[in-house]
Amino acid sequence: MSILLNLGIVLAAVIGMEIFAWAIHKYVMHGIGWGWHESHHTETDGLFEKNDLYAVVFSCIAAACFIIGSMGHSWLWYVGLGLTLYGVLYAVVHDGLVHRRLPFPRKARGRYMKRLVQAHRLHHAAHTKDGCVSFGFIWAQDVRKLKAELKQNLSRQGRSHQTDIAE
Ligand SMILES: [Zn+2]
Ligand SMILES: [Zn+2]
Repeated sequence: MSILLNLGIVLAAVIGMEIFAWAIHKYVMHGIGWGWHESHHTETDGLFEKNDLYAVVFSCIAAACFIIGSMGHSWLWYVGLGLTLYGVLYAVVHDGLVHRRLPFPRKARGRYMKRLVQAHRLHHAAHTKDGCVSFGFIWAQDVRKLKAELKQNLSRQGRSHQTDIAE
């Protein structure tokens, strides 16, 4: 297979994973899987949180892609590479820039990175299973739209919130 095709598979896997992660975050983590995800929306002691189990599950899927891919299905190997790349981007943006769980040397720079960070802070503005906005990790909507959506969600729930995302 040509390099271009392989690159295309990696890119498609990264984009596909963002869509998949968005759907899982919105419908599973904030649904039936809240039991694991709740730890990420509340203060927890220690280095790890129950929510990290999702990353373990996704890592197992990537590992399976590498293993099966190396047994004669090379396209799947490149899917595994895309998933791994997504994992790295997730770790940098989410765990590094937003939550500072990794010893990250600098703050978000550039309009797009700042938007990603602000959007995820807005996701955490509602500390509950319902009413949250912005479920993606490497793509985010316009922050003003998210703020308006959050305000609407909270007022529907009869709550008010100060959206403090200055940076
Ligand atoms: Zn969440
Ligand atoms: Zn988060």
